[in-house]
Amino acid sequence: MSDLLDCVIIGAGPAGLGAALYAARDRFKTVVLEKFIPGGQIINTDRIENYPGFDKIDGPGLIEKLRNQATSFGAEIKTSSEVTKLEKLNDGNIAVYCDTDKYVSRVVILAPGSDYRKLGVPGEDEFRSAGAGISYCGTCDAPFFKGKQVVAIGGGNTAVEETLHLARFADKVTMIHRRDEFRATRVLQEELFSKVNEPDSNLSLKLSTVATAIRGEGKVESVRLKNVKTGDQEDYPCDGVFIFIGMVPNTGFLKGFVELSDNGFIKCDCAYLRTGVPGVFVAGDCRVGAAMQLATAVGDGVIAAMMMKQYLRDPSWWNEPVSDLLQPGGW
Ligand SMILES: Cc1cc2nc3c(=O)[nH]c(=O)nc-3n(C[C@H](O)[C@H](O)[C@H](O)COP(=O)(O)OP(=O)(O)OC[C@H]3O[C@@H](n4cnc5c(N)ncnc54)[C@H](O)[C@@H]3O)c2cc1C
Repeated sequence: MSDLLDCVIIGAGPAGLGAALYAARDRFKTVVLEKFIPGGQIINTDRIENYPGFDKIDGPGLIEKLRNQATSFGAEIKTSSEVTKLEKLNDGNIAVYCDTDKYVSRVVILAPGSDYRKLGVPGEDEFRSAGAGISYCGTCDAPFFKGKQVVAIGGGNTAVEETLHLARFADKVTMIHRRDEFRATRVLQEELFSKVNEPDSNLSLKLSTVATAIRGEGKVESVRLKNVKTGDQEDYPCDGVFIFIGMVPNTGFLKGFVELSDNGFIKCDCAYLRTGVPGVFVAGDCRVGAAMQLATAVGDGVIAAMMMKQYLRDPSWWNEPVSDLLQPGGW
């Protein structure tokens, strides 16, 4: 068991590293607990074009910069440290448990991120590396498919929004949905159908259809489709497959400690990122309302670390409603 810490951050992805930089630079005793190695979801990506300040950077390169910046100010990153349990102590501090270690801290910032929900079909893992043709993020990767033919899979709000975005880049987009109706809001559906019905539209729909395999030599060349009503199957040629079937937050270990939404995201006030447990903030892709982007995850980490000071100065602030009386920069 270590001495009392000021700030324990769970997860060394972009949100956790952003929080660590700010907390450590303000001379708070800061430890980041990471179950694998620092980096989070972006670590395997070799091209990022939408992180402000960098024309192009790869995931490992960006993470190295974030990590070095945070540790240069004194943040300690502990790898292979999976957090399994948290406990609010009678004195207001928070105990954080890993396999063999226990940490006690005045503040905890939860940043365990999310994973894209996978289709679970043959070929999905094989073509997941950057450039091989599978993506889970249209906002991130659509520009790489300029002039190409792609398939988009899903039927919810994100799927429709991301597919419409893709259609601004790819030559031809085919949206595959397993049902014959969409779950997306009516407004989005109207936008989708209006685009599909444009003369010479580059966007078409295949409903009541599922993908059963993704195929190719070294990169995606086709997707195996099955019509769930007729049973008919076909190999559908394409250069890329975008999978938009949801996110799975890494919050199982938090059940019963903080309040989670029905789909497992951590509930918080989206201004100061406070959870229902005093002293426990949240940042990044694991929270309700997250934009699921690198820059916003880092921004969340910064907000949580800034707001931590407000709480440490006056713990009763925790229960104050989000207020326009809090002067910008007044902390
Ligand atoms: C292939 C790919 C490409 C992407 N490309 C882009 C892009 O170009 N631009 C963009 O803006 N966004 C992109 N994204 C999205 C971006 O990576 C995420 O929005 C961002 O990583 C979220 O950061 P985070 O810190 O909230 O979570 P994560 O990155 O998920 O990091 C969470 C960290 O917490 C750790 N962790 C989880 N549970 C525990 C636990 N119990 N104990 C200890 N540690 C734990 C995880 O191991 C992980 O390291 C991409 C995502 C992927 C997968």
